[in-house]
Amino acid sequence: MDVLISGASVAGPALAYWLGRAGHQVTVVEIAPAPRTGGYSVDFRGGTHLSVLRMMGVLDELRALDTGGTPYRFVAADGSRRSGLPGDFAGGDLEVARSELSRVLREHSAAEYVYGDAIAALTETSTGVRVDFERGGSRVFDLVVGADGMHSGVRRLAFGPEERFVTHLGCHVAGWELPCPAGVDRTVQLYNEPGRMASVGAHHGDPSRASTFFAFRAGPLDVDRRDLGAQRKVLADRFAGMGWRTGELVDALWDSPGLYFDAVSRVDVPSWSRGRIVLLGDAGYGATVGGMGTGTAVVAAYALAGELALAGTGHGAASARGGHEAAFAAYERRLRRFVKRCQRGGRGTGAFLAPATAFRIRMRDRVLNSRRLSGMLMAESQKNSTGVALPDYPL
Ligand SMILES: Cc1cc2nc3c(=O)[nH]c(=O)nc-3n(C[C@H](O)[C@H](O)[C@H](O)COP(=O)(O)OP(=O)(O)OC[C@H]3O[C@@H](n4cnc5c(N)ncnc54)[C@H](O)[C@@H]3O)c2cc1C
Repeated sequence: MDVLISGASVAGPALAYWLGRAGHQVTVVEIAPAPRTGGYSVDFRGGTHLSVLRMMGVLDELRALDTGGTPYRFVAADGSRRSGLPGDFAGGDLEVARSELSRVLREHSAAEYVYGDAIAALTETSTGVRVDFERGGSRVFDLVVGADGMHSGVRRLAFGPEERFVTHLGCHVAGWELPCPAGVDRTVQLYNEPGRMASVGAHHGDPSRASTFFAFRAGPLDVDRRDLGAQRKVLADRFAGMGWRTGELVDALWDSPGLYFDAVSRVDVPSWSRGRIVLLGDAGYGATVGGMGTGTAVVAAYALAGELALAGTGHGAASARGGHEAAFAAYERRLRRFVKRCQRGGRGTGAFLAPATAFRIRMRDRVLNSRRLSGMLMAESQKNSTGVALPDYPL
């Protein structure tokens, strides 16, 4: 089959790997002008995540890039310790920079990557999907996969407007890079005032650089996601007057070339496919932070490619007979409960990062300082990522 995947982050390249291995011709279109660098670390936890990475032959390479987990230290305004979390809480069994993971998956996949373009229109016919591209030109594909994240273009074009599928969870998060300030190392320092959190930690690979991660509680905001200036202004206003070293971190925002700023949200799409178009990863069932989106995306890519192989969709003809529909239905049946459970992990993220009141900040610290309670928290996060039975697909 000739398959188009939209999005070259994690889900897209993971699927490209498996489809390429099954002999399909794969094109990946990515809206960013080049592979996206920088950014946060993501983690894998539990046997299911690791066994898929092993089957892909990338586990050893990723282990060599393992950042070893990121310890957290919650601090008071004077920098003294309030509470903390060990590195393996956020780091799981394997923690790697998202951009490095994406690079490894891309390098292992036999696919053509096209940057700086996006799908402008999708028209399904009985034998394929005609795709018009924003930069011009059109082509017919057997299948189209939306692996283009929380704000998926494929979902908007083929399923409906974003408001229908994305639920705002009452919190916004932001991150940007800066030269590493004095006194900052790989242990992330986090400071809270009611409803707000500022944090900073040095890069794992390059200790001269650091990344911030900020969170604040608020309902939906009307900020243009392409207007960096407007986003910087919202953040500067929201964090004005906050103690600790917040002012210094916010000042660096104006010099930082990039900025990540989004609402903590959850994606629920009633059916993950329409005809020859299917959603994968955050586009179909994401949860901004804490929802194990990366492990889910990698597991789901294997299941989607595997079900296509089981349905015998190779070499065009079977695909024309509708084998893809059976495969998409089986992919969804197999994974729906698993992703629901993973998404649950993202539900309390806002309350954990930016408790609404001083009392709740103290309560959170008390939980983290109790060995028994923090152990329960760790066990819970581990539980959410296991429990999907994956067959040995003929890939
Ligand atoms: C701050 C933060 C921290 C996180 N921490 C973790 C963590 O510790 N562990 C974890 O498991 N997960 C974490 N996640 C979630 C994780 O990043 C995602 O769940 C995971 O990357 C899913 O990947 P994806 O490929 O589905 O989507 P994304 O990574 O969002 O990628 C979508 C890709 O599609 C591209 N794109 C967007 N629109 C279009 C378009 N119209 N056309 C073409 N391309 C397009 C984007 O540029 C991007 O490259 C975190 C997320 C955030 C925001």
